[in-house]
Amino acid sequence: MSAMATASATNLNTHTTAYSGRIYNFSAGPGVLPEDVLLQAQHDLLNIGGTGMGIVEHSHRAKCFDRVLSEAVEDCRAIGNIPASYEVIFTTGGATSQNFMVPANLLAQHETADYITTGYWAEKSYEQAQLYGNIHESWDGRPLKHRYIPSDDEIKPSTNPTYVHICSNNTIYGTQWRNADGSVRLPRIPAGAFLACDMCSDIYSRPMDISQFGVVYAGAQKNVGIAGVSLVLIRKDLLAKNPRELPLILQYRVLAKDESRHNTPPVFPIYMSGLVFKWIIKQGGLAALHKRNIEKAKLIYDVLDSSTFYTGHARVDSRSLMNITFKSPTTALDDLFIAGALRAGMDNLRGHRATGGVRASAYNAMPREGCKVLADYMREFERTHG
Ligand SMILES: *Cc1c(COP(=O)(O)O)cnc(C)c1O
Repeated sequence: MSAMATASATNLNTHTTAYSGRIYNFSAGPGVLPEDVLLQAQHDLLNIGGTGMGIVEHSHRAKCFDRVLSEAVEDCRAIGNIPASYEVIFTTGGATSQNFMVPANLLAQHETADYITTGYWAEKSYEQAQLYGNIHESWDGRPLKHRYIPSDDEIKPSTNPTYVHICSNNTIYGTQWRNADGSVRLPRIPAGAFLACDMCSDIYSRPMDISQFGVVYAGAQKNVGIAGVSLVLIRKDLLAKNPRELPLILQYRVLAKDESRHNTPPVFPIYMSGLVFKWIIKQGGLAALHKRNIEKAKLIYDVLDSSTFYTGHARVDSRSLMNITFKSPTTALDDLFIAGALRAGMDNLRGHRATGGVRASAYNAMPREGCKVLADYMREFERTHG
């Protein structure tokens, strides 16, 4: 398996430099996709599986899409080791919609949910949840500019929360819930509560144990596809909760019962996620991807650690393997850095307006070579501007 994964990665790198003049795209989202996936999609857009029609021209009830959807669900389950006690739902509205879907479906007005606010998106989740139930902020990272993920001792839980919400990877600030080896770290949570997790920017970038979560959600456009579809993994017993009257289309129970086809689903985005899942399997699965992602991030963090020029935003123990945030000594130098990087074939390195500086996103589909090219550029830039 690993020999195969290596051969395949090499092919992708060859495409990147020789195939079509594509450059290294460090965008935080929508993010880079594997070239094999894009090439397959290009083909299937015209004529999928010899049907004489493109994927987006088929009915969402036709055999062709039945197969696309069932394989996407099956592969998603296989990759994440998602047992039958969890539903796999594809839905629309982005991760942003899940900010209200989670409390609307899972929190009664008299119940309390804890929110651990570790970044920009976690702030959004916390704000939108206010519409439903009692929302307790058990950690507020704002005063510390969301530089790190709190320890259990720093988190102040409420007495009996229904669930605890976290964001596993903070896309904008570049921090991640992780142990020293990069594996998933989770907060200690009060007995009887379940974990709800915004996993947008690191889902399927490393192995995970779904049984530790009640519900996980992610917009597909960072690690598992394109914008237009979100993945929701939810424990089946939670679907029995019915805390308030909601329109059918906003009920997890209905989306699950109708197997993501209550209405016309986002056919093409689901198809794209299906291709990405097949690509992940071909790479050797999450353990292989995680290993590669650790190596990729290390190429860049090693430069930060040996530099007196760059300053990383994240505290070392909270560094994200997906989004690497740093600054040079001045904003003028940041601008020069970003402009020079573009000339050298690297795009979308500007940090979010909330943080400034530089942000390099190294999602699953970013080849190792891209991170190597960036690391070399960083050293050279420091040598000539430091
Ligand atoms: C990108 C992102 C979002 C927003 O996702 P949309 O699909 O645009 O709604 C939410 N949370 C995190 C962690 C993200 O990275």
